[in-house]
Amino acid sequence: MKNSIITSNPYNQKELKTYNYHTDNEVEIILNNAQNAFEDWKEKEIKDRTKLLKNLANLLEDKKETYAKLMTEEMGKPISQSIAEIEKCAWLCDFYITNAEDFLSDNIIETDAHESFISYDPLGTILAVMPWNYPFWQVMRFAVPSLTAGNVGLLKHASNVTGTALAIQDVFEEAGYPKGCFQTLLVNHDQIETIVENDIVKAVTLTGSEAAGRSIAAIAGKNLKKTVLELGGNNACVVFDDANLDKYMDTMVKARMQNTGQSCIAAKRFIVSEKIYDQFLNSFTKEVSKLTSGNPEDDNTFIGVMAREDLAEELEKQVNDSVKLGAKVTLGNKRYKAYYEPTIITEVTEDMPVFKEETFGPVAAVIKAKDNNHAIQLATNSRFGLGTMIFTENLDEAYNQIANIPDGALFINDMVKSDPRLPFGGTKASGYGRELSKEGILEFVNIKTVYINQ
Ligand code: NAP
Repeated sequence: MKNSIITSNPYNQKELKTYNYHTDNEVEIILNNAQNAFEDWKEKEIKDRTKLLKNLANLLEDKKETYAKLMTEEMGKPISQSIAEIEKCAWLCDFYITNAEDFLSDNIIETDAHESFISYDPLGTILAVMPWNYPFWQVMRFAVPSLTAGNVGLLKHASNVTGTALAIQDVFEEAGYPKGCFQTLLVNHDQIETIVENDIVKAVTLTGSEAAGRSIAAIAGKNLKKTVLELGGNNACVVFDDANLDKYMDTMVKARMQNTGQSCIAAKRFIVSEKIYDQFLNSFTKEVSKLTSGNPEDDNTFIGVMAREDLAEELEKQVNDSVKLGAKVTLGNKRYKAYYEPTIITEVTEDMPVFKEETFGPVAAVIKAKDNNHAIQLATNSRFGLGTMIFTENLDEAYNQIANIPDGALFINDMVKSDPRLPFGGTKASGYGRELSKEGILEFVNIKTVYINQ
């Protein structure tokens, strides 16, 4: 096992920085800091906590260029999308500034008691294991509600975004959060096990791959600690016969290609009813081929590079294995190091990797369905359950489909997206638990029943 992390820019392969892993002794100090911080933090009024959230939102706005540049350097996200990510984090803060008190206040329930109510107590130290694809957003959407509820946070970020991980700790400290409220751990996989087992850690949230989720949840389960898992997906974008392609084509392209295709909720399988298939494929191919690839630091780049070369190689293998099974490359499929050209694969069948697995990059699998019903049948043939999109002009038909979609989200005539006001999460191999909204802030609290007789 290595004893340091070296970050590098996936666009030009230049090394950025070397970081030493925390020693076991340093980890113990960090855990004790967290516990000490929690003792005071849990006693604070919610409005005192939301005051700090306001500072945090202001800092994110003020320094968005700096943070955006750091993310872009570390994982290749086009700069305009990095800036939008930081702005979204500030929006998240605003949402909980407005709503946290309402979500966390005692909830009176009329029963036979003199008084009965539910109170929402923080749990303590929550460990977050996070991915590199939205390096600020993924962390903030855990940390903002969890800390506002009175918990303290420990972050084990993806190692390729270690600079961002440390910047996130800094921004919390600069906003005035007490020392120990939010700390970044620089640890390897082996160290994680003992951290999860430590009594100070009360729960774990993991956003990442299915394999990482299974591994961390197994350790947490053995230690009877709650987990929230936000894992992978292969969302279907279902295009019914009557979809308005002129109106929604840009949305459909963005649904697959934004963040260079590295989004858990991206549209990965385009399932198109036969009647509209040719029209869809022509228009989709035309629009995808117009996307601007280039240096992620340029303002007009839409497709940057993938976060690491090995991830691009993995994607290439999924495509090539599908081609061996009969799929056709309609556009793209050229790779240079971590750059992967926007790609469209057709003649895709249910046995192929691009249908069955998660493709985490700019590759769209297009599948022809016999009709609308067949399209839904194909869409729901998935191990994953993050979300489904349906594009149709017939809203009655769309409403009829709600019960047929077993995912965490169904979006009609829009791409699946996260929004602080709405719960976010999956079913099946996409994980369990919810982030954002009221449901998210209540994941890491003790929902305590209080019953008073006189
Ligand atoms: P990953 O390889 O699973 O890594 C995620 C995090 O888990 C990283 O911090 C990683 O650390 C850590 N990790 C991995 N295996 C571990 C183990 N055995 N023990 C301890 N820690 C472990 O995923 P990724 O490549 O960063 O992210 C892409 C995946 O995340 C995709 O599958 C995507 O769909 C999913 N994702 C899901 C959501 C959602 O909300 N559902 C959102 C975004 C991304 P190291 O970097 O040190 O390996």
